[in-house]
Amino acid sequence: MLSLPLSSLQFPTQNLPSPLPSKTTITSPSHLKQLHSLLIKTNTPLPTLIPFTQIPSLCFPSHFHYAHKILCLHSPKPEILHWNSYLNTLSSNPSSSLEALRLFSCLRELDLLPNSFTLSFALKACSQIPDGIFIGRCIHSLIVKLEYQSEVFLVNTLVNMYSRYGGEDDALLVFDKMAIRDVVSWNIMITHFVKKGEIVLARDFFDKMPDKNIRSWTAMIAGYVQAKKAKDAIELFREMEEIGVRANEVTVVAILAACADLGDLELGKRVHEYSKRSRFGNNVRVQNTAIDMYIKCGCVELARNMFDEMTERTVVSWSAMICGHAMHGQGEEAVKLFKTMTQLGVQPNGVTFIGILHACSHIGSVDEAWKFFTKMTEEYDIVPEIEHYGCMVDLLSRAGQLDEALDFINTMPIKPNSIVWGALLGGARVHKRVDIGEEAIRHLRKLDPLNDGYYVVLSNIYAEADRWGDVAKIRMSMKNCGVRKTPGWSTITVNGETHEFVAGQIGHPRMEEICKKWEELVKKMRARGYTPDTSVVMLDIEDEGEKEKILFRHSEKLALAFGLMSTPPGSVIRIMKNLRVCSDCHKAFKLISEIVGREIVVRDRNRFHCFRDGSCSCKDYW
Ligand code: ZN
Ligand code: ZN
Repeated sequence: MLSLPLSSLQFPTQNLPSPLPSKTTITSPSHLKQLHSLLIKTNTPLPTLIPFTQIPSLCFPSHFHYAHKILCLHSPKPEILHWNSYLNTLSSNPSSSLEALRLFSCLRELDLLPNSFTLSFALKACSQIPDGIFIGRCIHSLIVKLEYQSEVFLVNTLVNMYSRYGGEDDALLVFDKMAIRDVVSWNIMITHFVKKGEIVLARDFFDKMPDKNIRSWTAMIAGYVQAKKAKDAIELFREMEEIGVRANEVTVVAILAACADLGDLELGKRVHEYSKRSRFGNNVRVQNTAIDMYIKCGCVELARNMFDEMTERTVVSWSAMICGHAMHGQGEEAVKLFKTMTQLGVQPNGVTFIGILHACSHIGSVDEAWKFFTKMTEEYDIVPEIEHYGCMVDLLSRAGQLDEALDFINTMPIKPNSIVWGALLGGARVHKRVDIGEEAIRHLRKLDPLNDGYYVVLSNIYAEADRWGDVAKIRMSMKNCGVRKTPGWSTITVNGETHEFVAGQIGHPRMEEICKKWEELVKKMRARGYTPDTSVVMLDIEDEGEKEKILFRHSEKLALAFGLMSTPPGSVIRIMKNLRVCSDCHKAFKLISEIVGREIVVRDRNRFHCFRDGSCSCKDYW
């Protein structure tokens, strides 16, 4: 019925209109119709003038049937191909996914047979709209009916669609049934389990896949970073390097984040150097992550140099640098940077304000902090989150305004968490306020009952107030509630190898030397008036000598002694610790930095301590 080409129809050739334009861009359906009639009149074949590729986008949806007719009559290619390319455009953008499905159903109504591409574009659209899985299931049955199950790319889209909608069982079923799988099929499954946080399952797929590409490696490495398994991420990265797979920018971002987590400066530096030599060296995300890595590895100066040299900076770069200065106790520098940032018209975000409030906390500038806190809501319309409240409580507590801090907590519009109460408890310790400490613990008991750190702090407060009966009571209640001391561990990286020390354990092969080194240091410290602060030892041990022994086996002390033995004189020693540094280690590290004339950087659970010439960057408040 539709087989007769229009151009074969004979039209009278008299009364010719003006000459035909040679090359035409069609601007509207009516323009198309005008041109079409002109061609009929002049008996010109349509394909010479009208680009078919333009027709679908121009005519859908209002002139859909007209477009269908033209394509059906004149296009030398199968009509579905023209619609496919438009369907692809529509389904590539989440905002036009519904339009894509509308087009798909119009094509079905015309009984135009979809090919595997048509189906994959429709599936892609399904995975971008709410409840798209229902239409997706219909398309799945169409795939089976039309016998497209062996088209790997199409089945991949199907697996992807199911995995996006939590149709995991369906995804797995389809994946299992695939006769041939390509690298994309495997990558979809890995990414799916990584996103779900099921890292072991993801690794299972990763290990089983026959050929891996950089995306597979990156998905797995980034998955480990996300799951806070930085060590596994780095291990896998080294494996990847060994077999000669080159990292892309996403891998670099992931691995820099892992280095930041672990404080692995050597690898972090090497990866950063690699990124500088590659084509993505100027990528802002890579640079921001590198800045964060340097900061978290204790090299704030290196981070700042990098920041200063950046040609393009985002709010993330500014915030990272401001937080970095604050974390390293350089409050003034952070405030200065904030001012420059706002003068340049960069809008700060929530993270920037966390940094700036931290900074005020370090300078002890309560008034300025209040100003920033108000500015944040009034000028920048940022709703304070729990972290901001935590900073304010920390700040007021540090400054000794403990009653104000308690009032502040009680009037907070959101429920205070253990970090907020923990900050108050820290203030109570420094300013020797037993009543405030008890109030904080009352809440911490409910919020974070098994964290021994808080009990230790309260027991210190009691001990300093000579309330030994209460110290004993706390020990009892810790026992009764089943609170166990979280084992403290510290790591130090020497010549690319990370050594881990666990409090009280003597697993290191050079333990004997380490203990000797420590004894040597203790002797020198005692000569300068050091007495071990055994009040931090919570065990029921009466013997002071025994207590000292336990104190001297704190993980960061072992790591420091090892570091001093195995690194060149004068170099900076960097230690990572999983818990808060205790007051005895803090006191000892200050002295040692002076004795050995070296800089010691310790990253504990909350902040950095940079020990130099007998003092610490935290100004003894942490
Ligand atoms: Zn300690
Ligand atoms: Zn410190």
